[in-house]
Amino acid sequence: MSQPARPVPEDHILGVYNRAPLAFDHGRGSRLYTAEGEAYLDCLAGIATTGLGHAHPKLVEALKAQGEKLWHVSNIFRIPDQERLARRLCEETFADVVFFTNSGTEAVECALKMARKYHWARGETDRIEIIGFDGAFHGRSYAAVYAAGNPAYVEGFGPPLPGYRTLKFGDHEALKAAIGPKTAAVIIEPVQGEGGARALPETCLSELRRLTREAGVLLILDEIQCGLGRTGRLFAHEWATDAAPDIMCVAKALGGGFPVGACLATIEAASGMGVGAHGSTYGGNPLAMAVGLAAFEELARAETLDHVRRLSGLFAQSLGALAARFPDIIEEVRGKGLLIGLKLTPSNRAFMAAARDEHLLVAGGGDNCVRLLPPLTMTEDEAREAVARLEATCEALRKAAAA
Ligand SMILES: *Cc1c(COP(=O)(O)O)cnc(C)c1O
Repeated sequence: MSQPARPVPEDHILGVYNRAPLAFDHGRGSRLYTAEGEAYLDCLAGIATTGLGHAHPKLVEALKAQGEKLWHVSNIFRIPDQERLARRLCEETFADVVFFTNSGTEAVECALKMARKYHWARGETDRIEIIGFDGAFHGRSYAAVYAAGNPAYVEGFGPPLPGYRTLKFGDHEALKAAIGPKTAAVIIEPVQGEGGARALPETCLSELRRLTREAGVLLILDEIQCGLGRTGRLFAHEWATDAAPDIMCVAKALGGGFPVGACLATIEAASGMGVGAHGSTYGGNPLAMAVGLAAFEELARAETLDHVRRLSGLFAQSLGALAARFPDIIEEVRGKGLLIGLKLTPSNRAFMAAARDEHLLVAGGGDNCVRLLPPLTMTEDEAREAVARLEATCEALRKAAAA
């Protein structure tokens, strides 16, 4: 059977991304530079990943020093920096144990397997159901796309994985009805990132914790985007009373741009995961852990978190004023801390392109939002500059709509 020849993309890259026609050569702090030296103000930070900005001196130093010493050994050996970072993460959270990964998706994968195995090891082999919420994003593995349930991300990939349910974000009654003797875990982002900066009200999170605890269901928090200082607390669930999960996924800012993720758990929730139950070649290797340790120490500093709260106050105030001046462009300002969403009237793609024309980089998001995810280290002057560039973006879009 002969078929017309398919054109091969010029860049030979699998076409799963809608890429901006822009490439960067280097970065420093909150700025990215093209090879021609043109500067852009970075309000997306690699999607909340370069949380400490570009080329942070402490991260560069850690990477260089470890790079000359030892990159990789297998997890069949002890890795001292892995133990150090695990201890620090446990000191600062509810957790007792940590499994390190190379990505957020793998942290989610570990969490979901851990939850099912917990019940299985207790003889509750029917408890396999994982409840997630619409608008969620947990990564792109099979389990992660079903945990989030976004129809666009599961379509065409064969029969659905059994045991996953998606409920409406914030529908308490549906949740109460759904939790039962077959429920293994509930997975949720305290602040949805990709879904368009939707923050779960703090009282809802506390209530969810109470419900799951009473039902013997594990609570998995996906803090991959909203955690590690982004909301002004080290972890977003800390804003809510008594909302510590059983399992928590982190990644993104943990490596500051170097691939590092982690699944944190209480010793109880992890009780099914014995020798051989899970593993990773690269996860937690010496190079990743050296950078992760340096990044975590910076992110966890009280000064960093204070700065985030100050900066987010500044953004909230000036973006509120901007939305009031441009109600034809910005419908709503939402999110939490420095995970900020602008729900737009014009398409978010058009807004991102117009912002790029103003040399400002913002991220897209669900529900026709753009997200502002500046580095936590952005200065107040840079934040004011970002707002000025957003204002120019709104002016340009208003002019274009009138033309
Ligand atoms: C980015 C993200 C993931 C997936 O992380 P990867 O490192 O891309 O695998 C999962 N959950 C949330 C909330 C995220 O923002």
